[in-house]
Amino acid sequence: MISRSSRFVLIWSAFFAHSAPAASPDRPLASREEVQAALAFLKNDEPRTLEEQVRICEIPAPPFEEAKRGRYFVEAFTAAGLQEVRVDAVGNVIGVRPGRVTSPTLVLSAHLDTVFPAGTDTTVKRSGTLLKAPGIADDGRGLAALLAVLRVLNVKSLATDGTVVFVATVGEEGLGDLRGVRHLFEKELAGKITHFISLDGSGLRVVSGAVGSNRYQVTFRAPGGHSYGMFGLVNPIHALGRAVEKIARLEVPDDPKTTFNVGRIEGGTSVNSIAQSAWFEIDLRSADASALEAVDAAFRAAVTSAVEEENAFWDRRTRSGPARMTNRANPVTVEIKAVGRRPTGRVADDAPILQAVRRANAALGIEARFEASSTDANVPISLGIPAVTLPAGGESTGNHALQEQFDSKDSHLGTQRALLAVLEIVGLQAAR
Ligand SMILES: [Zn+2]
Repeated sequence: MISRSSRFVLIWSAFFAHSAPAASPDRPLASREEVQAALAFLKNDEPRTLEEQVRICEIPAPPFEEAKRGRYFVEAFTAAGLQEVRVDAVGNVIGVRPGRVTSPTLVLSAHLDTVFPAGTDTTVKRSGTLLKAPGIADDGRGLAALLAVLRVLNVKSLATDGTVVFVATVGEEGLGDLRGVRHLFEKELAGKITHFISLDGSGLRVVSGAVGSNRYQVTFRAPGGHSYGMFGLVNPIHALGRAVEKIARLEVPDDPKTTFNVGRIEGGTSVNSIAQSAWFEIDLRSADASALEAVDAAFRAAVTSAVEEENAFWDRRTRSGPARMTNRANPVTVEIKAVGRRPTGRVADDAPILQAVRRANAALGIEARFEASSTDANVPISLGIPAVTLPAGGESTGNHALQEQFDSKDSHLGTQRALLAVLEIVGLQAAR
C-alpha cells in the first residue's frame, strides 16, 4: 500500500548512458548493448504492459480472496517458463528464474490483494493516458510491471548471475497484515532470500524505510437496556465516543512522522436501546519504533480514561434505582485486541541495494525521493535483509478509493527502472 501520490522530478540527459555514475570499475551495466536493447523493448512494449494492467485489475482480489487473481499468475508464470511454479500455503504465487548461482537470490514481488470488498466493480475505463478503476494503480501497476520484467528477461534472453524468484503476494493491504510476505520469509523461502524488491503502486520514488503500524479493534461492553426505562445505565457507545474524542486530540510528532486514525466504528442495535456493545478500529503508525510505542501508550491511556469517565459519570448521576445497581455490578468494560502489527525499520543510505537503485535511477535520469512507507518490504527490512519498494511508474490519484486512477504518461520508466534494479542486484552474464 502506497497511499501518497508521487512527487518526483525527472532530469533527462541527452547522453544518459554516459552520465550514469559507474557502478564498478567496469562499464556501467545500463550502457551494455543488451541492456539498452532490453530498455528499448520495455518502452515499445508499454502498451502491452498497460493491457496487462487492465486485465489484472479486472480480476477482483478483495482482502483474503486473492485466489482467482493468483490463478492468473500461476498461468502467466508457467507460460513464461519459470521453474517450481506453485501456490504456497497462504496463497502466494511463486516461480523461480534460476541464475548461474543461488546467491544472490532476489525476490521480485508485487501484491495481489486490493483494499476493495467483493462486489466492487473493477472494470477499467480508459480515456487518453488515464486508466480508471479501483486497484488500477495499487497494485495493478506493480503486478503488470512484474510480468513486464519477466517478459523482457525472456524475450531478450538475459541470463542473470543470481537467481530471481518472482512472487505475487497475498495480504499486503489492511488486515491482511503482510501475511503473505511474512510466510515467505518465515517458512516458504526462509533463509534463502538475500534481497527483496516489491513493485508497488505508481510513481518513481523509492521506499527504503518501513513505517511500522499497530492496529487494534477496541470493543466496549455493558448490559444495555431500554433508552427511557433504563436511562442511567452506562453506555458503551458513549464510552467509545469519549475515547475517540480523546484520541482525536492526541499530539504526535511531525518528524518522525507519526499518525493515528480511527478508521471503522460500529455498535448498538436500535435508536431506543442503550447499546450492549460498540467497537472501533484504530491504526497507529510511525517510521520510528519509539514514537510508535509512545502513541500506542497514549492511545491506551485515552481508552482507559474514557471508560473510567463513563462509569464515574453515571455513578454520580444515578443516586438510586435499578440503573445504579446494574452499573455497580456491570460497568463498561473494554477489550483491546491487536488486529495488525507491522514492523518498523530503515535500510542504511549506503546499503548496496540502495546504491543499485540509485544507479538504476541515474541511468534513466530519475531523481527520486527516498521515503518511508508501509509495504511488503517492512518484513525483510525488520529482519535486516536488504529490501526496497519501488513504485512502478506512471502517476496515480485516489489510491484506496473508488475513484482511483492511473496516468500512464511515461510509465515505461517504472518497468525500465525495475529491470535495471534487478540486474544491478543479481548481475548479468555476458551475452552469449
Ligand atoms: Zn500497494
